[in-house]
Amino acid sequence: LPVRSKVTVTAIPGDGIGPEVMRATQQVLAAADAQVEWEEALAGAEAFRRGIASGAPRETLDSIARTGVALKGPLETPVGHGEKSANVALRKTFEMYGNVRPVRELPGIRTPFSGRGIDFVVVRENVEDVYAGIEHMQTPGVAQCLKIITEVGCERILRLAAAVAEAEGRRKVTVATKANIMKLTEGMLKRVGEQVLAEYPSLSNEHMIVDNCAHQMVIRPEQFDVAVMTNMNGDILSDLAAGLVGGLGVAPSANLGDGVAMFEAVHGSAPQIAGKGIANPTALLLSALMMLRHVGDFATARRIEHALYVTLEEGRDLTGDIAREAEGVPTQQFVDRVIANLG
Ligand code: NAD
Repeated sequence: LPVRSKVTVTAIPGDGIGPEVMRATQQVLAAADAQVEWEEALAGAEAFRRGIASGAPRETLDSIARTGVALKGPLETPVGHGEKSANVALRKTFEMYGNVRPVRELPGIRTPFSGRGIDFVVVRENVEDVYAGIEHMQTPGVAQCLKIITEVGCERILRLAAAVAEAEGRRKVTVATKANIMKLTEGMLKRVGEQVLAEYPSLSNEHMIVDNCAHQMVIRPEQFDVAVMTNMNGDILSDLAAGLVGGLGVAPSANLGDGVAMFEAVHGSAPQIAGKGIANPTALLLSALMMLRHVGDFATARRIEHALYVTLEEGRDLTGDIAREAEGVPTQQFVDRVIANLG
């Protein structure tokens, strides 16, 4: 066998259930002998407590800049203290403009949509739109938020969507916008989409009004292949899409920028179940598999994926959010089962 060199990855355990699902994921990767060396870094609530206004300390940013790859747990966004989101800070610092969220039916996870063959990718713009967080009070009682959309931003997210489609052998890109109402901002993604996607003859493309897109995702989700959207629309619709295939406990994602990639579960810190040892680590584990493929370790990713799928299919040791019986098992019992299934 060829000797594989170790890849250094920044690991940010994060808040709430973050440390629990991170430990679970690292255990599985270690058991599969993934050649990963972790560089643990702080971000989120503890960073805010230490007075770091961005929620992401210098050492954390330095680590990501050095490794170019991060696996991240959820970061709590403090409410009402005027702090910005540490997630947004990380995405902006490294200009991780693309959020790629695969939506795929998983074996053994029964949903009202099971058997429909749902398999698509939501590509969400990640740094523009209303998430710039530029808000102010115009007058007492009238708040205003700026929605920033640039041509450059539209072009790169559309090209990323096309690249994802091509890399995965997909055929169609759906550009979902609210261009009928916001003709300049949302309309820009539609207009640039018509130009840019014409350059990809192997891909068909269509435009869909985003509210109808939400409807279509529920009515006939199997029609989608790659769906690309501005930041907030993508945020909302990718959570909806996660719900179609088993929920937030099983939804992975990648944040991609030029030269930096950060992988994370779609879900948040789930404060209600934090510390109880019952969180589902599948979403972060699937994110880690995207990470392994990103660094070129396809064999280990496939091996872990197989063990995970077998575990889900067996259905005996599943966490409460996806358990078929009323009671779920602790995170550790699920992890032990996945590891046992590595064979
Ligand atoms: P959430 O995703 O934390 O929770 C939503 C629901 O899903 C809850 O019922 C929760 O118990 C359940 N859930 C989520 N992940 C689960 C898992 N792995 N296993 C089992 N059940 C799971 O969303 P929220 O409650 O709106 O947000 C909580 C905090 O997380 C907020 O501070 C929010 O800002 C933050 N957040 C962070 C990220 C991120 O870091 N990328 C994403 C979303 C929310």
